[in-house]
Amino acid sequence: MQIKPLALALLIAVPATAAEPDTKRHQAQIDQIVKEISPVRIEATIRKLVGFRTRHTMSDTVSETEGIGAARRWIKAELERCGAGTALKVEFDSHIAPVSARISRPTEIVNVVATLPGTQAASVERMYVVSGHYDSRNTDVMDASGDAPGANDDASGTAAVMEMACVMARYKFDATLVFMTVAAEEQGLLGAAHWAEQARQKNLNIAGMFTNDIIGSSRDEHGKKDDTQVRLFAEGLPVQKENSDAVRTLIQTGGENDSLSRQLARAVKEAGERYVPKFKVNVIQRRDRYLRGGDHMPFLERGYAALRFTEPAEDFNHQHQNIRTENGVLIGDLPQYNDYNYIARVARVNAAALSSLALAPAAPQKVQVRTAKLQNDTELVWQANSEPDLAGYRIVWRDTTAADWQGSKFVGNVTEFTMPQSKDNVYFGVQAIDKDGNVSPASYPTPLR
Ligand SMILES: [Zn+2]
Repeated sequence: MQIKPLALALLIAVPATAAEPDTKRHQAQIDQIVKEISPVRIEATIRKLVGFRTRHTMSDTVSETEGIGAARRWIKAELERCGAGTALKVEFDSHIAPVSARISRPTEIVNVVATLPGTQAASVERMYVVSGHYDSRNTDVMDASGDAPGANDDASGTAAVMEMACVMARYKFDATLVFMTVAAEEQGLLGAAHWAEQARQKNLNIAGMFTNDIIGSSRDEHGKKDDTQVRLFAEGLPVQKENSDAVRTLIQTGGENDSLSRQLARAVKEAGERYVPKFKVNVIQRRDRYLRGGDHMPFLERGYAALRFTEPAEDFNHQHQNIRTENGVLIGDLPQYNDYNYIARVARVNAAALSSLALAPAAPQKVQVRTAKLQNDTELVWQANSEPDLAGYRIVWRDTTAADWQGSKFVGNVTEFTMPQSKDNVYFGVQAIDKDGNVSPASYPTPLR
């Protein structure tokens, strides 16, 4: 076709948007991390943790072989050993819990925290936290001396977090990663709550938190095996007596499925399923299971995005139970009921998601939609990101009844864009993308009048 001179002039006059980086390709570093996560090491860690006999929060702290004190010293030494020669910094985070519903005498609660600092100045303050709880319990939550192996609840999550720390410490990420094994989950989420409260008081920028709690078994109570998925619990709107302005805005604009935790869950599902083939991240749109809670809750209650990973179908014969035989069935949270390849798969999903988030730019800030006049186009504006490797922004959208993003448009390195669809009919989000194709979670636009 021959282009007429006028048309050619028009073509030249329109500034070209830089091409979208390939956001579907695999980052070599993440593929390598996923490959290195070892079910053999995870099994060895779990069997070692079970070997402390009980890890009840009020159990012995003096013995070198039994009780929670020996367990936490071993976890810390292991993280120091495998992090040697890397930037991984391992510390105890300790406080004394006063007497409360599940604490009968003032008790030292100790988290083991391993931090891998980010390597990009613009991102080092942004943190992602992954945790599991190393304390255990049996039938009576106050029984501090009976055997409480806690192989699934939650040596599985503890071992996954330790494995991630050991593998990922040998790689570099833009943002900071915190690998945490916490105590006193069973006594009222006390370890996680202490750390989350310190974070809130210091106003730390925790862009996302995941707890891994009961990720050990792929078998349900009837013996049926499903090792093809993990549940990811993601809260919508927080339960509070008084709604914050941010929550009121979400409710007013129909954004109840676009909270920070739901946006994080979408990003985790995308990265997890991209890097771990034939494995589903089953996002459950609620805070947690009925009657249950976990270490993501103290983070949610302080306004942070937080999620919970749990196996697809729990067998309650193998949690929170004294070891015993009933009607020929061996009851108790014992290591033979874990599926170590399954735990490794869940750890890989976590590691892929954490890596992807910590390599990507921050989610765009101050994303707004202009609502001053009636119109069927959608004018979106946002604040510029500061990362030096930023390629630009992508606008994503979905039907109001859809769970996941259905469309996307890369718009280049600009801070506003007008979409030809109506903001009344779809939900929009804005993501930041770096030059390697790493994508941030989406940010929900608030009205700008
Ligand atoms: Zn648990």
